[in-house]
Amino acid sequence: MAKGYVHINVERCKGCAFCVEFCPTKVLALSSAFNSRGYHPPHVVDAEKCSGCDLCGMYCPDFAIFGWKVSDPKGQSAAQEEEQENAG
Ligand code: SF4
Ligand code: SF4
Repeated sequence: MAKGYVHINVERCKGCAFCVEFCPTKVLALSSAFNSRGYHPPHVVDAEKCSGCDLCGMYCPDFAIFGWKVSDPKGQSAAQEEEQENAG
């Protein structure tokens, strides 16, 4: 079982790949798809390896990604709030 989760806000991403480079367990890769601004956002390629360390979130210059540990339910609610904002 994964020890953490990662949430990606695709529309906020500028495709710099810092999150891909700095993820210690190689959970992420840049997608071949484009967001509405023409950037390639990351996607999860190996969810089981996510530790929830949030290094991706610390390196992202655009606050487009964050990770949280399974033991920290705050991350889940933050991800849900963000999704609701995007939907609305
Ligand atoms: S939270 Fe940590 S392990 Fe998970 S994707 Fe981000 S950098 Fe990788
Ligand atoms: S670090 Fe942030 S802006 Fe850069 S590719 Fe990852 S999610 Fe996108």
